[in-house]
Amino acid sequence: MIESRDWSSRLSPSVQSIAPSGIRKFFDIAAQMKDVISLGVGEPDFITPWTIRESCVYGLECGYTSYTANRGMMELREEIAYHYEQEYETRYDPATDILVTVGVSEALDLAMRAVLATGDEVLIPEPCYVSYQACTILAGGVPVSVPTKLENEFRITPDELEQYVTDRTRVLLIGYPNNPTGAVMERTDLLAIAKFAEKHDLLVISDEIYGDLTYGDEKHIAFSSLPNMQERTILLNGFSKAYAMTGWRIGYAMGNQAIIAAMTKIHQYTMLCAPITAQLAAIEALRRGEKYMKKMVAEYDRRRRLIYDGFTKIGLPCFEPKGAFYIFPDITPSGYQDEEFAEELLKAEHVALVPGSAFGVCGAGHVRCSYATSIDKISEALARIENFLAKHKKT
Ligand code: PLP
Repeated sequence: MIESRDWSSRLSPSVQSIAPSGIRKFFDIAAQMKDVISLGVGEPDFITPWTIRESCVYGLECGYTSYTANRGMMELREEIAYHYEQEYETRYDPATDILVTVGVSEALDLAMRAVLATGDEVLIPEPCYVSYQACTILAGGVPVSVPTKLENEFRITPDELEQYVTDRTRVLLIGYPNNPTGAVMERTDLLAIAKFAEKHDLLVISDEIYGDLTYGDEKHIAFSSLPNMQERTILLNGFSKAYAMTGWRIGYAMGNQAIIAAMTKIHQYTMLCAPITAQLAAIEALRRGEKYMKKMVAEYDRRRRLIYDGFTKIGLPCFEPKGAFYIFPDITPSGYQDEEFAEELLKAEHVALVPGSAFGVCGAGHVRCSYATSIDKISEALARIENFLAKHKKT
């Protein structure tokens, strides 16, 4: 470390006001322990399907090593547009309505910076992905947490949202299927939210990165495919989760042309373009990756049922998650707070999971478990959690 005076007073106030993500802390501890089973990381345990990897290697061999258009390669934008037309009957013009980004992470940051003025309020149903609050603050906005509840399977309703609307509310930021709860919103739920957005003339940023990871009979619904919603929705999606491509850093945003142009302006000065290698791989994912993706989804589904049954048997209440690869059991029967539960479980039984309060105040009393890990490891983790409760439960 460089010897220096304390420079912290020179840091930007908005950066100082945000805390580092609560997720990583546990992995730093876990990384130093042997024999840890991690249900902590929100990342597929599969590697990217071979045809996708191969297309990138081939592209490199052919000399594709340059910048691309700021908005991303036209072939990729066309594939994305085609995909949305086929899957959701929603038309996007690849020339004006789509921006290829460095993951949904960049797309979220750009969306916030493109639409928020200082002091604008953003409604954020919680528990939610850790970046939502931070990106709002870094863009000069004010995050307004709207708690959701286990009784309602962590869905959001217009009545709950209404209580938090003010004359400064500009954006509703939703993420379903949800990280950390695994909640999904069905068509009727979403139609009610659409009405609410129209009533208050809100933009809706819809993070649908887990859209392909939806289980059971209900298919995922793109928010922009609902009546009148396309023009007011900035839809974010990417390849990290469904195609096991977290390391490639590739995603996209879709929306009305004025907003996409504004986001492109920021992107061209800050990022220039997403890596060409990742764009080539993403084209292949959309052209020929679906059957591999569906296999991974079927495997997550098997694990989902195992872990849901496991927690139910152990006596930690949870609802059946229908999307993403997370389950969010209530650990209050253990007598511990969620942070303490995660720490003690890690120490005693070497199982890593994430305290629910890392995802917002109303996540307290829960833990997030990712089932993006093998059936054997999930079974062993469940046995260890049961053992922990038998030995260490506080009464
Ligand atoms: N949105 C949600 C809800 C996530 O869970 C994650 C990653 O965990 C991201 C966005 C970031 O995705 P990407 O890898 O595309 O940046």
